[in-house]
Amino acid sequence: MRVAVVGAGYVGLVTAACLSEFGFEVTCIDKEADKVERLRQGEIPIHEPGLDGLVFANRRAGRLDFSDDLSGAVRGAGVVFIAVGTPSRRGEDAADLAFVRAAAEQIGRALNGFTVVVTKSTVPVGTARMLERLIRDVRPDANFAMASNPEFLREGSAVEDFLRPDRIVVGLSSAQARERMSELYRPLMLRDVPVLFTNFETAELIKYAANAYLATRIGFINEMADLCEAVGADVSAVTRGMGLDRRIGLHYLQPGPGFGGSCFPKDTRALTSIAKQAGTRSRIVEAVIEANAARKDRLAERIADAVGGSLRNKRVAVLGISFKAETDDLREAASLAVIPALQKEGATIAAYDPVAIAAARPLLPDVTWCGDAYETAKDADAIVVLTEWNEFRGLDLRRLAAQMREPVLIDFRNIYSAGDVAKTPFVYHSLGRATVSPGS
Ligand code: NAD
Repeated sequence: MRVAVVGAGYVGLVTAACLSEFGFEVTCIDKEADKVERLRQGEIPIHEPGLDGLVFANRRAGRLDFSDDLSGAVRGAGVVFIAVGTPSRRGEDAADLAFVRAAAEQIGRALNGFTVVVTKSTVPVGTARMLERLIRDVRPDANFAMASNPEFLREGSAVEDFLRPDRIVVGLSSAQARERMSELYRPLMLRDVPVLFTNFETAELIKYAANAYLATRIGFINEMADLCEAVGADVSAVTRGMGLDRRIGLHYLQPGPGFGGSCFPKDTRALTSIAKQAGTRSRIVEAVIEANAARKDRLAERIADAVGGSLRNKRVAVLGISFKAETDDLREAASLAVIPALQKEGATIAAYDPVAIAAARPLLPDVTWCGDAYETAKDADAIVVLTEWNEFRGLDLRRLAAQMREPVLIDFRNIYSAGDVAKTPFVYHSLGRATVSPGS
């Protein structure tokens, strides 16, 4: 079967590469001709572990191609995925469906033969039905069915998540679409991956409900971390004590600088908008959004407190710019909130990230970009860990402290053990745990 994937971003590219790995003939389309050209040259535009090898192997096997010719790729494809962006509408909570609608219109015009048009983008409840009408209007004679197949991959482990998903969710309304989608996911169904066939609305809501729930867990443990600081408890032990309860589990219970990334912020906002439109309220998710924004707003203040109250003429070394480890994605990263706030208060910033510097340069002006953590620490008054990259876990903290004007370490990811840092010259501030001074 031939498959077309519209959108060569984090989701489209991974979907295309993995489906070609299953043996399908896949064309991945993007409207950015430059991106397509780079992909054809073998350059992968995003950092995603394992993706380059998969793309290379399947290109060589002749199963994966890239193109900016949407019509050409859609003609003759049995399944067409829409994997374009659905950001928040400017100044609003609702998802902007402009890219999705544009893609659907183009697909509609190109359809020939029975085709399943699948929304893989995260889209509000009602979108699959809306697109069905839209395509029908564009091409009253088209032989097609819609499916809603939300994607649950995580950046940083996207290939692994796609090839070994916890479940596959497919919303549809026809037996023909079910048969086609079963054919597509047979390689995973044979490995006993659970597949949930639902109606469109349920599939669309499952995605938002899952993301909003995960965001809520993060918001909750962040709140508990603040409470731990206030009462002298240790959040690491609280997390473990909670998470070992099998009803709760340990995942998504690490405190941090506030959730960011391309999904949780916009998807939680979109869920509140969907609820309002449906005449209900999502008060819990509204509170999670508000608490997360307040947390990000307070990061610079926390850093100021750790360096004695004022940031004026302080040099702050930032380790990690991407919104989480193993990705170069900067969308809604904590760094984009905290670095300008520190600069506004008079601090100068040196920063390092293993993969995100190229993407960060245009977004974060007046930052001294460094080649590693030790260079970043030179003459700094404080080091701030913003992203939990593994390479930061094993740093030689004594060597790091020796480069600095003041050995202050502010760890917004709790990647170090307080006991270990106490053996170094650092004053160590982390989340939900007592501040540690040398020898304490
Ligand atoms: P992205 O911004 O990285 O990629 C979208 C791509 O689509 C861009 O390259 C853009 O040029 C292209 N595009 C837009 N309109 C097009 C058109 N008409 N024709 C061809 N190409 C077009 O986005 P992403 O992070 O891959 O997310 C895509 C969707 O998947 C979103 O709805 C998102 O919420 C959802 N999602 C993302 C993740 C994630 O971790 N990034 C996980 C699950 C779901």
